Amino acid sequence: MSSILHPALSRRGFCFCCVGGAAYAATGGWLTPREAFAEARGLVTLFKESAAVSPIVTHKLRNNISVLEGSGGNVAVLTGPDGKVLIDAGIGVSRPQITRALADLGPEPITHLINTHWHFDHTDGNPWLNSVGAKIIAQENTRKYLSEVQRVEDWDYNFLALPAGGIPTEVFADEHRLKLNGSSIDLKRYAPAHTDSDISVTFGEADIVHVADTFWNGVYPFIDYSTGGSIAGMIASSDANLAATTDKTIIIPGHGKPVSNRAELREFRDMLVAVRESVAALKKQGRSRDETVAAKPTAAFDARFGASVIDPGFFTRLVYEGV
Ligand SMILES: [Zn+2]
Repeated sequence: MSSILHPALSRRGFCFCCVGGAAYAATGGWLTPREAFAEARGLVTLFKESAAVSPIVTHKLRNNISVLEGSGGNVAVLTGPDGKVLIDAGIGVSRPQITRALADLGPEPITHLINTHWHFDHTDGNPWLNSVGAKIIAQENTRKYLSEVQRVEDWDYNFLALPAGGIPTEVFADEHRLKLNGSSIDLKRYAPAHTDSDISVTFGEADIVHVADTFWNGVYPFIDYSTGGSIAGMIASSDANLAATTDKTIIIPGHGKPVSNRAELREFRDMLVAVRESVAALKKQGRSRDETVAAKPTAAFDARFGASVIDPGFFTRLVYEGV
């Protein structure tokens, strides 16, 4: 098994959110629950093996804020005398590469970790980051989901709870404000969008915002219906992101090219709206899910967004589920 590199894993930025799509691509068809379960378990192993050897690329932004690319979701870092503040944790097995990338940013210890939502590819590194001193902060649903077995139907997969040290200890319902390293850090919950635990993290003075998995830059998004996500919520969160930013704002997406802007965000939002309309029209005509996929309602956007493991067929199925 280890001699065969799954095609999904050859893509940089492969993320666990994409396992359903990868399973679909690998078999050329939709899996039975039993097959999907076996496939997903295999992919978790492969994904960890891949993350273990993936390089971390650091992008320096402004006001001592950087973003690390290469371990699950995009990880933002604020440095300064109060210690390093991380937005998302990446995958646990990337610890050596992330440790080196963080050391290159300065000698300060890691003191805070903020989770943007509960998914594996944003929280798997929680336990080791806590073990080196990070206090973990999140929306209260993130703590809830990380504390118990979570079932994600679209993967037919059960996630176990994280070890105690990986569970957030400081949680909030809607909003929370921190002041660290001279920077105000505003945490704000979205209405349910990608999940019902998503938050934005805004660095006010720097005019930088990490928008979690409400924005996938240049790739079709995963939508987690198992924990409150929906296509309507994804569109509403995109509108909220557009309203909260200007053309000067640096926008960090959960996945995809990690340094983004309002123009790319608008393109993503317009794609979501157009695909929702097309899929809703087909469903209203009485077409089945497979007939809707066969009609290729995403065709106009596939060249721009369709090259990831959330392929056009998988994304169409996710939208179909929610219209
Ligand atoms: Zn996610």
